[in-house]
Amino acid sequence: MFKNTLDNKRYYTLNYFFRQKFKQKVIKIPLDVNSSCPNQLNGGCIFCSNRSTSNISDATLDIVKQFNKGKEILEKKWPNSLYIAYFQSGTNTYGSVKTIKKFVDKLLVINNVVGISIATRPDTLSDDWLAYLNDLNKKTFLTVELGLQSSNEKTLNFINRGHTVNDFTKAVLKLQKRNIFTVAHIIDGLPYENKNDMINTIKYLNNLKISGIKIHMLYISKNTKLARIYENKNFPILSKEEYIDIVCEQLRNLDENIVIERITGDPIVDELIEPKWLVKKFCVLNDIDKEMVKRNIYQGDLVK
Ligand code: SF4
Repeated sequence: MFKNTLDNKRYYTLNYFFRQKFKQKVIKIPLDVNSSCPNQLNGGCIFCSNRSTSNISDATLDIVKQFNKGKEILEKKWPNSLYIAYFQSGTNTYGSVKTIKKFVDKLLVINNVVGISIATRPDTLSDDWLAYLNDLNKKTFLTVELGLQSSNEKTLNFINRGHTVNDFTKAVLKLQKRNIFTVAHIIDGLPYENKNDMINTIKYLNNLKISGIKIHMLYISKNTKLARIYENKNFPILSKEEYIDIVCEQLRNLDENIVIERITGDPIVDELIEPKWLVKKFCVLNDIDKEMVKRNIYQGDLVK
Protein backbone atom coordinates (compact mmCIF):
# COMPACT_ATOMS: atom_id res chain seq x y z
CA MET A 1 0.00 0.00 0.00
CA PHE A 2 1.18 3.53 -0.76
CA LYS A 3 2.41 5.15 2.46
CA ASN A 4 0.35 8.37 2.20
CA THR A 5 -3.13 6.94 1.90
CA LEU A 6 -5.69 5.17 4.07
CA ASP A 7 -7.30 3.20 1.27
CA ASN A 8 -6.32 1.62 -1.99
CA LYS A 9 -5.09 4.82 -3.64
CA ARG A 10 -1.58 4.91 -4.98
CA TYR A 11 -1.20 8.64 -4.45
CA TYR A 12 -1.05 11.05 -1.50
CA THR A 13 -4.70 11.73 -0.72
CA LEU A 14 -6.01 14.88 0.93
CA ASN A 15 -8.00 12.62 3.25
CA TYR A 16 -4.76 11.05 4.50
CA PHE A 17 -3.13 14.44 4.95
CA PHE A 18 -6.07 15.71 7.03
CA ARG A 19 -6.26 12.50 9.11
CA GLN A 20 -2.59 12.84 9.98
CA LYS A 21 -2.86 16.51 10.80
CA PHE A 22 -6.21 16.64 12.62
CA LYS A 23 -6.73 12.95 13.61
CA GLN A 24 -10.27 13.22 12.27
CA LYS A 25 -12.18 13.51 8.99
CA VAL A 26 -12.04 17.07 7.64
CA ILE A 27 -14.33 18.44 4.95
CA LYS A 28 -14.09 21.64 2.98
CA ILE A 29 -17.25 23.74 2.84
CA PRO A 30 -17.29 25.73 -0.43
CA LEU A 31 -18.31 29.39 -0.13
CA ASP A 32 -19.17 32.02 -2.70
CA VAL A 33 -18.88 35.63 -1.53
CA ASN A 34 -19.32 37.23 -4.95
CA SER A 35 -15.60 37.93 -5.32
CA SER A 36 -14.86 39.43 -8.72
CA CYS A 37 -11.73 38.88 -10.81
CA PRO A 38 -9.17 41.31 -12.30
CA ASN A 39 -8.77 39.12 -15.37
CA GLN A 40 -12.40 39.72 -16.31
CA LEU A 41 -11.34 43.27 -17.25
CA ASN A 42 -8.84 41.67 -19.59
CA GLY A 43 -11.49 39.46 -21.25
CA GLY A 44 -11.18 36.57 -18.75
CA CYS A 45 -9.70 33.09 -19.16
CA ILE A 46 -11.16 31.51 -22.30
CA PHE A 47 -12.71 28.62 -20.35
CA CYS A 48 -14.27 30.80 -17.63
CA SER A 49 -18.04 30.66 -17.41
CA ASN A 50 -17.97 33.11 -14.54
CA ARG A 51 -20.11 30.80 -12.42
CA SER A 52 -19.38 28.89 -9.30
CA THR A 53 -18.94 25.18 -10.07
CA SER A 54 -20.22 24.26 -6.63
CA ASN A 55 -23.87 23.32 -6.22
CA ILE A 56 -23.45 23.76 -2.47
CA SER A 57 -22.38 27.40 -2.03
CA ASP A 58 -25.05 30.09 -2.16
CA ALA A 59 -23.88 33.69 -2.49
CA THR A 60 -27.34 35.04 -1.65
CA LEU A 61 -26.99 33.91 1.95
CA ASP A 62 -25.21 35.57 4.86
CA ILE A 63 -21.77 33.96 5.37
CA VAL A 64 -22.65 31.94 8.46
CA LYS A 65 -25.95 30.72 6.97
CA GLN A 66 -24.11 29.79 3.78
CA PHE A 67 -21.53 27.84 5.77
CA ASN A 68 -24.19 26.08 7.84
CA LYS A 69 -26.18 25.15 4.75
CA GLY A 70 -23.07 23.59 3.15
CA LYS A 71 -22.21 21.83 6.38
CA GLU A 72 -25.71 20.40 6.67
CA ILE A 73 -25.51 18.95 3.16
CA LEU A 74 -22.03 17.48 3.56
CA GLU A 75 -22.35 16.14 7.08
CA LYS A 76 -25.09 13.77 5.92
CA LYS A 77 -22.31 11.92 4.12
CA TRP A 78 -19.54 12.60 6.66
CA PRO A 79 -20.96 13.08 10.17
CA ASN A 80 -18.69 14.14 13.08
CA SER A 81 -16.21 15.91 10.85
CA LEU A 82 -14.07 19.00 11.28
CA TYR A 83 -14.45 21.80 8.74
CA ILE A 84 -12.41 24.08 6.56
CA ALA A 85 -14.22 27.13 5.21
CA TYR A 86 -13.28 27.38 1.55
CA PHE A 87 -13.55 30.69 -0.30
CA GLN A 88 -13.82 29.03 -3.67
CA SER A 89 -15.38 31.26 -6.31
CA GLY A 90 -13.65 34.16 -8.04
CA THR A 91 -10.40 35.86 -7.02
CA ASN A 92 -10.81 36.21 -3.28
CA THR A 93 -7.80 38.47 -2.67
CA TYR A 94 -8.89 40.99 -5.30
CA GLY A 95 -11.20 42.94 -2.99
CA SER A 96 -10.28 44.59 0.29
CA VAL A 97 -8.76 42.58 3.13
CA LYS A 98 -11.40 44.06 5.41
CA THR A 99 -14.29 42.39 3.60
CA ILE A 100 -12.87 38.85 3.68
CA LYS A 101 -11.49 39.34 7.20
CA LYS A 102 -15.01 40.09 8.44
CA PHE A 103 -16.23 36.79 6.98
CA VAL A 104 -13.22 34.84 8.27
CA ASP A 105 -13.67 36.20 11.80
CA LYS A 106 -17.27 34.97 11.82
CA LEU A 107 -16.29 31.54 10.50
CA LEU A 108 -13.35 30.90 12.81
CA VAL A 109 -15.54 31.01 15.91
CA ILE A 110 -17.87 28.28 14.62
CA ASN A 111 -17.46 24.98 16.41
CA ASN A 112 -15.16 22.50 14.63
CA VAL A 113 -13.85 24.96 12.03
CA VAL A 114 -10.14 24.15 11.89
CA GLY A 115 -9.01 26.06 8.86
CA ILE A 116 -9.58 28.53 6.06
CA SER A 117 -8.84 28.01 2.40
CA ILE A 118 -8.67 30.94 0.00
CA ALA A 119 -8.62 30.60 -3.80
CA THR A 120 -7.04 33.36 -5.82
CA ARG A 121 -4.73 34.33 -8.70
CA PRO A 122 -0.92 34.52 -8.46
CA ASP A 123 -0.88 38.14 -9.64
CA THR A 124 -3.35 39.31 -6.99
CA LEU A 125 -1.44 39.16 -3.71
CA SER A 126 -0.76 42.70 -2.52
CA ASP A 127 1.47 43.46 0.48
CA ASP A 128 -1.66 44.15 2.57
CA TRP A 129 -3.03 40.76 1.66
CA LEU A 130 0.26 39.00 2.36
CA ALA A 131 0.42 40.64 5.79
CA TYR A 132 -3.12 39.50 6.55
CA LEU A 133 -2.50 35.95 5.30
CA ASN A 134 0.65 35.80 7.41
CA ASP A 135 -1.38 36.71 10.53
CA LEU A 136 -4.22 34.35 9.63
CA ASN A 137 -1.77 31.48 9.12
CA LYS A 138 -0.65 31.87 12.72
CA LYS A 139 -4.23 31.57 13.99
CA THR A 140 -5.52 28.66 11.95
CA PHE A 141 -4.58 26.16 9.26
CA LEU A 142 -4.53 28.34 6.15
CA THR A 143 -4.40 27.13 2.56
CA VAL A 144 -3.99 29.47 -0.40
CA GLU A 145 -5.01 27.98 -3.74
CA LEU A 146 -3.47 29.55 -6.83
CA GLY A 147 -4.53 28.99 -10.43
CA LEU A 148 -1.62 28.14 -12.71
CA GLN A 149 -3.25 25.82 -15.29
CA SER A 150 -0.02 25.22 -17.26
CA SER A 151 3.69 25.98 -16.99
CA ASN A 152 3.81 26.58 -20.75
CA GLU A 153 3.93 30.33 -21.39
CA LYS A 154 2.39 29.95 -24.87
CA THR A 155 -0.58 28.11 -23.39
CA LEU A 156 -1.05 30.79 -20.72
CA ASN A 157 -1.19 33.39 -23.51
CA PHE A 158 -3.60 31.32 -25.56
CA ILE A 159 -6.00 30.80 -22.69
CA ASN A 160 -5.68 34.48 -21.72
CA ARG A 161 -4.64 33.86 -18.13
CA GLY A 162 -3.31 37.40 -17.83
CA HIS A 163 -0.28 36.31 -15.79
CA THR A 164 3.04 34.61 -16.52
CA VAL A 165 4.68 31.49 -15.13
CA ASN A 166 7.12 33.80 -13.36
CA ASP A 167 4.19 35.56 -11.63
CA PHE A 168 3.16 32.17 -10.30
CA THR A 169 6.69 31.35 -9.12
CA LYS A 170 6.97 34.69 -7.32
CA ALA A 171 3.57 34.27 -5.62
CA VAL A 172 4.43 30.77 -4.38
CA LEU A 173 7.77 31.94 -2.99
CA LYS A 174 6.06 34.79 -1.11
CA LEU A 175 3.55 32.36 0.43
CA GLN A 176 6.21 29.78 1.24
CA LYS A 177 8.30 32.46 2.95
CA ARG A 178 5.33 32.82 5.30
CA ASN A 179 4.96 29.03 5.71
CA ILE A 180 1.55 29.03 4.04
CA PHE A 181 0.27 25.75 2.62
CA THR A 182 0.00 26.51 -1.10
CA VAL A 183 -1.98 24.52 -3.65
CA ALA A 184 -1.67 24.82 -7.44
CA HIS A 185 -4.58 24.29 -9.83
CA ILE A 186 -3.66 22.85 -13.20
CA ILE A 187 -5.72 21.80 -16.23
CA ASP A 188 -5.02 18.82 -18.47
CA GLY A 189 -6.11 18.80 -22.11
CA LEU A 190 -5.71 22.52 -22.81
CA PRO A 191 -5.83 23.25 -26.57
CA TYR A 192 -2.62 22.36 -28.43
CA GLU A 193 -0.85 20.95 -25.36
CA ASN A 194 0.70 17.50 -25.59
CA LYS A 195 1.49 14.96 -22.88
CA ASN A 196 5.01 16.36 -22.44
CA ASP A 197 3.64 19.85 -21.73
CA MET A 198 1.41 18.41 -19.03
CA ILE A 199 4.24 16.41 -17.46
CA ASN A 200 6.47 19.49 -17.60
CA THR A 201 3.89 21.37 -15.52
CA ILE A 202 4.22 18.65 -12.88
CA LYS A 203 8.02 18.88 -12.93
CA TYR A 204 7.82 22.66 -12.57
CA LEU A 205 5.62 22.22 -9.47
CA ASN A 206 8.03 19.64 -8.02
CA ASN A 207 10.86 22.15 -8.37
CA LEU A 208 8.75 24.79 -6.65
CA LYS A 209 8.05 22.35 -3.79
CA ILE A 210 4.36 23.16 -3.90
CA SER A 211 2.36 21.73 -0.96
CA GLY A 212 -0.64 20.43 -2.89
CA ILE A 213 -2.12 20.16 -6.36
CA LYS A 214 -5.55 20.04 -7.97
CA ILE A 215 -5.56 18.39 -11.39
CA HIS A 216 -8.59 19.28 -13.52
CA MET A 217 -9.63 17.92 -16.89
CA LEU A 218 -10.46 20.74 -19.32
CA TYR A 219 -14.15 21.01 -20.07
CA ILE A 220 -16.00 23.28 -22.43
CA SER A 221 -18.91 25.16 -20.93
CA LYS A 222 -21.63 26.93 -22.89
CA ASN A 223 -21.25 30.68 -23.44
CA THR A 224 -17.47 30.77 -23.05
CA LYS A 225 -14.79 31.90 -25.50
CA LEU A 226 -13.51 28.35 -25.46
CA ALA A 227 -16.92 27.13 -26.68
CA ARG A 228 -16.71 29.51 -29.65
CA ILE A 229 -13.15 28.39 -30.45
CA TYR A 230 -14.26 24.77 -30.19
CA GLU A 231 -17.24 25.32 -32.51
CA ASN A 232 -14.99 27.01 -35.13
CA LYS A 233 -11.89 24.84 -34.97
CA ASN A 234 -13.04 21.76 -33.13
CA PHE A 235 -9.66 21.10 -31.48
CA PRO A 236 -9.26 17.58 -30.05
CA ILE A 237 -10.59 16.92 -26.56
CA LEU A 238 -8.94 14.19 -24.53
CA SER A 239 -10.81 10.92 -24.37
CA LYS A 240 -11.26 9.37 -20.93
CA GLU A 241 -8.54 6.80 -21.74
CA GLU A 242 -6.09 9.53 -22.83
CA TYR A 243 -6.81 11.55 -19.70
CA ILE A 244 -6.25 8.54 -17.44
CA ASP A 245 -3.00 7.73 -19.23
CA ILE A 246 -1.76 11.32 -18.79
CA VAL A 247 -2.80 11.53 -15.11
CA CYS A 248 -1.01 8.23 -14.40
CA GLU A 249 2.19 9.57 -15.95
CA GLN A 250 1.80 12.90 -14.15
CA LEU A 251 1.42 11.10 -10.82
CA ARG A 252 4.52 9.02 -11.45
CA ASN A 253 6.42 12.26 -12.06
CA LEU A 254 4.95 14.09 -9.08
CA ASP A 255 6.95 14.25 -5.84
CA GLU A 256 5.40 11.80 -3.35
CA ASN A 257 5.20 14.56 -0.70
CA ILE A 258 2.78 16.70 -2.70
CA VAL A 259 -0.83 16.25 -1.58
CA ILE A 260 -3.40 15.52 -4.30
CA GLU A 261 -6.51 17.58 -3.60
CA ARG A 262 -8.34 16.78 -6.81
CA ILE A 263 -7.79 14.60 -9.82
CA THR A 264 -10.70 15.27 -12.15
CA GLY A 265 -13.01 18.10 -13.23
CA ASP A 266 -16.42 18.99 -11.85
CA PRO A 267 -18.49 20.65 -14.59
CA ILE A 268 -21.97 22.12 -14.22
CA VAL A 269 -23.86 19.43 -16.10
CA ASP A 270 -26.43 21.61 -17.86
CA GLU A 271 -23.67 23.92 -19.14
CA LEU A 272 -21.33 21.21 -20.35
CA ILE A 273 -20.57 20.86 -24.07
CA GLU A 274 -17.64 18.42 -23.87
CA PRO A 275 -16.32 16.00 -22.66
CA LYS A 276 -19.47 14.21 -21.63
CA TRP A 277 -17.51 11.39 -19.93
CA LEU A 278 -16.41 13.84 -17.23
CA VAL A 279 -19.90 13.81 -15.69
CA LYS A 280 -19.23 10.34 -14.28
CA LYS A 281 -16.61 11.62 -11.87
CA PHE A 282 -16.44 8.49 -9.72
CA CYS A 283 -15.92 6.27 -12.77
CA VAL A 284 -12.94 8.43 -13.73
CA LEU A 285 -11.49 8.22 -10.22
CA ASN A 286 -12.00 4.44 -10.09
CA ASP A 287 -10.48 3.99 -13.51
CA ILE A 288 -7.38 5.94 -12.46
CA ASP A 289 -7.01 3.62 -9.45
CA LYS A 290 -7.47 0.52 -11.60
CA GLU A 291 -4.97 1.73 -14.19
CA MET A 292 -2.36 2.43 -11.49
CA VAL A 293 -2.81 -1.11 -10.18
CA LYS A 294 -2.64 -2.58 -13.68
CA ARG A 295 0.59 -0.72 -14.45
CA ASN A 296 1.86 -1.27 -10.87
CA ILE A 297 2.79 2.40 -10.51
CA TYR A 298 2.74 4.92 -7.63
CA GLN A 299 2.94 8.65 -7.16
CA GLY A 300 6.56 9.74 -7.48
CA ASP A 301 8.02 6.46 -8.68
CA LEU A 302 9.76 8.23 -11.58
CA VAL A 303 11.12 11.07 -9.44
CA LYS A 304 14.86 10.79 -8.95
S1 SF4 B 1 -8.96 33.81 -13.05
FE1 SF4 B 1 -10.70 32.49 -12.53
S2 SF4 B 1 -12.46 33.86 -12.27
FE2 SF4 B 1 -10.82 35.02 -13.32
S3 SF4 B 1 -11.29 34.83 -15.50
FE3 SF4 B 1 -9.85 33.19 -15.00
S4 SF4 B 1 -11.12 31.39 -14.43
FE4 SF4 B 1 -12.46 33.23 -14.43
